[in-house]
Amino acid sequence: MRKYNSKIQIDQLKREITNKPVRYVINTHFHGDHTQGNRAYRASGRPVDFISSTTTKELMSDLGVTRAKASLDAAREEIEALHKEAVKAPTAKEKAFCADQIRQLEAYAAELKDYSPELPTITFDNSYLLPDSAFDLHLEFHGRAHSAGDIFVLCPQRSSIATGDACMGWVPNLGNAYPKEWPRTLDAVGQIGFDHVLGGHGALESGHGVMRNVRNYIEELTGRAERAKESGLNVAEMQKQITADSLKSLASNGYGASLTCAMTAGLAHGGPGPFAGVGELEYRGHR
Ligand SMILES: [Zn+2]
Ligand SMILES: [Zn+2]
Repeated sequence: MRKYNSKIQIDQLKREITNKPVRYVINTHFHGDHTQGNRAYRASGRPVDFISSTTTKELMSDLGVTRAKASLDAAREEIEALHKEAVKAPTAKEKAFCADQIRQLEAYAAELKDYSPELPTITFDNSYLLPDSAFDLHLEFHGRAHSAGDIFVLCPQRSSIATGDACMGWVPNLGNAYPKEWPRTLDAVGQIGFDHVLGGHGALESGHGVMRNVRNYIEELTGRAERAKESGLNVAEMQKQITADSLKSLASNGYGASLTCAMTAGLAHGGPGPFAGVGELEYRGHR
C-alpha cells in the first residue's frame, strides 16, 4: 500500500464521499495506518472526537512514537531507493512514476516528522453507540484478533460492518495478532447479521464468505505452526514446510486466488507481494 499522507486522504474523502465536516474518527486498532491521520483531523480546527477501545488507546500511547519513527526511517530508505531507480529508469513514464512515488513518500515523511499520537478522546471496553436517525453506528469489541483491541463498526440500516484489519481482502497480518483467539473473535462477529464487509484493506466484500475464509486460514496456519513447534521444528524449517500451496484454507472458496489477485493489484501501488505473511509467521503462544 502506498503511504499517502492524511491530507491527501481527507481531500479525497471530501471530493468523493461528503463535504460535511467529520465529527468522529474511529480507530479500529492501534496500527499507524489506522491512527496516524488523527492529527490531520485535529489540525482542521473543527470539533472532532477519536473513538477506540480502551486497549487501543493504551497501545497508541505506548507504541505510537516508536512505530512512527520506524515508519519514517523506512520511508526515507524507500525515497533513497526510488531516487536510484529513477536514474536507471529507461522510459520517461517510469521516471515520472518514481517522481510521483517520491513526492507522496516525502509528504508522508513530512507528516511523521516530530510525530506524537493524537489519542482517542472517547474509549470503551465492550460497546459504544453513535446514534443517528439514518445510520446508527454500533462499535463493538468481540475479543482479541489482529491486535489486542480490534473493534468492529456495524451499521444496521446499511447492513454493513467495518472490520479494520481483523477481516480484510488482503493477507492477514499476524505481527501483533492473537492467532489462537482470532478465529473465535470472528466467529462471534459472524453471528451478527450483515451483508457487506468493509475491511481495513482491499475491496468491499459481500456476505460472510470473506470472514469465514480469514478465520479458517488463521486457524489452519496457527494449528500447523503449533504442531510444527511441538515436533521440534525451528522457524526456518516451519517456513519451508508451511507453504501457501500446502494450506487447505487457501485452496478453499478461491481464497488464495482472490488474495493473489488483490495483492498483485496492490503491487502496482508499492504493496507487499502475495503471501508475504505466510513465511514470516511469528509463532505466538496463547496469551
Ligand atoms: Zn493493522
Ligand atoms: Zn492496516
